[in-house]
Amino acid sequence: MSQPTLNIVIAGGSLGGLIFGIGLQAAGNIVTIFERRPNSAMLGLGAGLSCAPEMQEFMAKYDLTKEPYSLDTNEYQFINSKDEMIRHANMEQRSTTWDVLYYRLRANFDGLRVGYCSVPDFSGRRKGVYRDGCTVTGVKEIGEGVRVEYRDENGSEKSMDVDLLIAADGPSSRIRDIFLPEMERRFIHIAWRGTVPLKDISAESQAKQRNIPTLCLIENSATILYPIPGANGSLDPKDQLYNWVWYRVISQDSPEYKEIMTDKDGKLHRVSVPLGKMQPLVVLKQKTLAGQLLSPSSAEIVQKTKDPYIQAITDCISPKTLFLDGKVLLAGDAVASLRPMAGLGVNSAARSAMMLLDALEGRMTLAEWEKDILAYARDARAMGITRESTWKMKKASDVKEEGPPAGFRTKVNKI
Ligand SMILES: Cc1cc2nc3c(=O)[nH]c(=O)nc-3n(C[C@H](O)[C@H](O)[C@H](O)COP(=O)(O)OP(=O)(O)OC[C@H]3O[C@@H](n4cnc5c(N)ncnc54)[C@H](O)[C@@H]3O)c2cc1C
Repeated sequence: MSQPTLNIVIAGGSLGGLIFGIGLQAAGNIVTIFERRPNSAMLGLGAGLSCAPEMQEFMAKYDLTKEPYSLDTNEYQFINSKDEMIRHANMEQRSTTWDVLYYRLRANFDGLRVGYCSVPDFSGRRKGVYRDGCTVTGVKEIGEGVRVEYRDENGSEKSMDVDLLIAADGPSSRIRDIFLPEMERRFIHIAWRGTVPLKDISAESQAKQRNIPTLCLIENSATILYPIPGANGSLDPKDQLYNWVWYRVISQDSPEYKEIMTDKDGKLHRVSVPLGKMQPLVVLKQKTLAGQLLSPSSAEIVQKTKDPYIQAITDCISPKTLFLDGKVLLAGDAVASLRPMAGLGVNSAARSAMMLLDALEGRMTLAEWEKDILAYARDARAMGITRESTWKMKKASDVKEEGPPAGFRTKVNKI
């Protein structure tokens, strides 16, 4: 028996919201995404992302362009601070960028055409509706559904009555706050990030990095560097970029943290400093520190980055994902902001979106869905912490095998 068509609003049009939108739209529902930012398509910063197995499964099933979207590698390595390889192993990694995924998902959700990929044929099926500049401000239960309150692109207060609201509004979720006002994001450490064209990296450093994901653990610090597609998602080797993330454990109360998070106009930011707003002196200090702490090849890549940016890494897991008898659901980072070291944020969204379809189509209950999503979030968080715990080691050569906790509910590779 076919399921009734549901009218669904998704709050948040980043990767998590789009993943849920595509799955629900493909199942025959009517989906509208409200995205707070006026021009969300400009936000990617070209940041690298690795796609773990369930995200790959989602793309294989729902990306109707069927075009490649990642640079694939089959090996990773650990190097020490002298650029000497200390361990390597076989592991498949599919590396892409926020932009590539965002535009691919938009092409599949609402047919946005921007030149990153083709747009699939929508004949015989409905496009999703994506509205930039619309902020969801509240939700109320009305009979069998919910009334979603939002501020539209012209600043007018509006509402829409739907069957389901999915809150994919990120780790500081406003909708989660309505139901769980006591929840807070806990600061963990900082991550510097950036990208550099491969052609700008010296042959010597390229030989050390070997064009494969490369990790380096230094006390209270870790770097991961890996190749990603170039501008406009180009997979041509001559356009390739190198993505790096440099995690540093520093105290949120330290003068250094305050200095880093204060932009050149003197404004103190909580989670990240907008691109182009970083104080030049702060960037210079970080690049100098890179030269002192990181392996020579990693330091060169960091130092050659034109606009590195900073992100505070926070920890937060919701104790619930269902509210108002399952008429409001949390999704993506609104459920849990996972440690990026685990590389599972997008995977988690893809996995829970595919399982939600099972729940809506009667193959599992919503309560079972919630239980599984929360267990996965806890496991993925534990895996990130296990990986981070190796940072405290004095010598990189002390690195031991680590991996997900026993019974981890994903197909993720052990690293
Ligand atoms: C340093 C770093 C590295 C990472 N690396 C990886 C990786 O390698 N692999 C991986 O799988 N994941 C990685 N992640 C995680 C990944 O980026 C996220 O899990 C993923 O983007 C899903 O996020 P989201 O869409 O749920 O939330 P977000 O990306 O935070 O999006 C939330 C969206 O909601 C919008 N919004 C907020 N409030 C409202 C509102 N009231 N109304 C309407 N819209 C609203 C926001 O503007 C935003 O666009 C990494 C994260 C970090 C920080």
